[in-house]
Amino acid sequence: MALRFFRCIECGHRMRASGAYCGLCHAAKTRPQQFGEGLVFAVTAGLIAVVFAGIVLLL
Ligand SMILES: [Zn+2]
Repeated sequence: MALRFFRCIECGHRMRASGAYCGLCHAAKTRPQQFGEGLVFAVTAGLIAVVFAGIVLLL
């Protein structure tokens, strides 16, 4: 079962987190939806950077 977090603003179809287009009407994902996925990546990268900086400061 695929995870479907977002609704298509054009037809209301539930879209998967992956993929840039609606599976039903092929409308492009909205910017907030793409931003949400980018935010998850940014938070993960930020946490890695903070941990790395902490290690450097301790040495
Ligand atoms: Zn749609």
